[in-house]
Amino acid sequence: MGDNQTSQLLGKNSKIIDLKGKTVLPGFVDSHVHLVMSAIKNQEVDFSNINSMGELLEKIENESLKDGKQVIFGWGLDPSRFSETIPTLTELDKVANGKTILISRIDGHSALTNSKGLEMLGMKDNNSPVLIREQYNQAVSAFYNSLTRDDIEKALKLFSQEVVKQGVTFVHALEGGFTSPTLSVDTLLKTRNTLPMRVTLYYQTLNIREVLQLGLKRIGGCLLIDGSFGSHTARVKEPYSDLPQQRGVLYFDPKRLEGFIIEAHSLNLQIAMHAIGDEAIDELIKAYSRAIKKSPRRNLRHRIEHFELPKKEHIEQASKLGIVLSMQPVFEHYWGGRGKMYERRLGSRVDNTNPLKTIIKKGITIAGGSDSFVTPINPILGIYSAVNHPNENERVTVKEAVNMFTLNGWFAAGAERKGGSLEVGKVGDLVVLNEDPYKINPQEILSLKPLMTVTRGKVVYSSGDI
Ligand SMILES: [Zn+2]
Ligand SMILES: [Zn+2]
Repeated sequence: MGDNQTSQLLGKNSKIIDLKGKTVLPGFVDSHVHLVMSAIKNQEVDFSNINSMGELLEKIENESLKDGKQVIFGWGLDPSRFSETIPTLTELDKVANGKTILISRIDGHSALTNSKGLEMLGMKDNNSPVLIREQYNQAVSAFYNSLTRDDIEKALKLFSQEVVKQGVTFVHALEGGFTSPTLSVDTLLKTRNTLPMRVTLYYQTLNIREVLQLGLKRIGGCLLIDGSFGSHTARVKEPYSDLPQQRGVLYFDPKRLEGFIIEAHSLNLQIAMHAIGDEAIDELIKAYSRAIKKSPRRNLRHRIEHFELPKKEHIEQASKLGIVLSMQPVFEHYWGGRGKMYERRLGSRVDNTNPLKTIIKKGITIAGGSDSFVTPINPILGIYSAVNHPNENERVTVKEAVNMFTLNGWFAAGAERKGGSLEVGKVGDLVVLNEDPYKINPQEILSLKPLMTVTRGKVVYSSGDI
């Protein structure tokens, strides 16, 4: 921007910051975040380095003396490192200072709780603090649902600081249903404007009426049509390579799915649903296609979350129907390519996972995301993963990858005229980076660091290096 133009835009309250030649990009967007659960998990305490009962009790006591949370969640506890047996209820109660505790064992199949926890679970008669499998699962969801609005607000406030530190100025929060505590949607609607990044809400419910009553323009998120490759539950047309009798699960009856989509579409709601395997994608595209045929309009930008194993025809159809694909390039970084999880599960189909370049060539918009808490919110890692896709044919340019995590996120939310690029008339949300992503070697993208983040005209993060 030239100096003349700049001076015309300055108001009397404008503050001038000299960026000393650093790179400015539009603030990053993460288009797929389970924000409340990410915030809660962010507060969970790491117990993985505890080696004795004394250390365990001391750590619980320290945590319980901290302000701000009524429930102490912990993870990673490995009692096989102790020479003593595990503590008794009385010993745990003594150090919990009236708070409730739930500390998961390292294998994630059991946990320790205290009397307050047992009381909450209606298991007062237990005289052991150990919760095993079914009790454990029941406890985890009961504990998350017991969080108060205040607990959630505090967790969100803290976690937001981590979000803006990554250069993110806008998240699409997918809330409600099994991935969030009961009060998530309500709390987020009331507090989102106080957070240092923008938040748009995707309510994961099938209750169309409730969504309309709340005045929301969109419905869905990770509404599961199928599961995941990791757990062999993503629905594939051909059996899993490492479990030949298994093709995954369809969680929706096709008629019910179609009914839901036709109704939400006819009421002008944008819809987002989770489909990973080729057969699940097939079902979802069929339903979208019928809905659009019935009441033709393309501009609602219905979304498919993940879209990990599409067939060629799915890409063609998605392009024709104007569907936005909400994808997580970082999955390729963790699980793609030779010798990793996708190959074990899918065999030669590993060459067809997350075909980013093929999709972009068809003119489809890909909105990039992390699926946090599944992977951390980190758009720079997302951009790196898209540019360095393990399948060379599916690597995208730096520009295309940056777009996934900026402009395309605004597009997916129907707001690309308002933000997503640095232009006069758009919001000035931005991130300052230490280096220019367009000038560095693609392998070095991970050396990029956000130095400053600006949302709604305010500096919401500064590394102190500017
Ligand atoms: Zn999902
Ligand atoms: Zn998700």
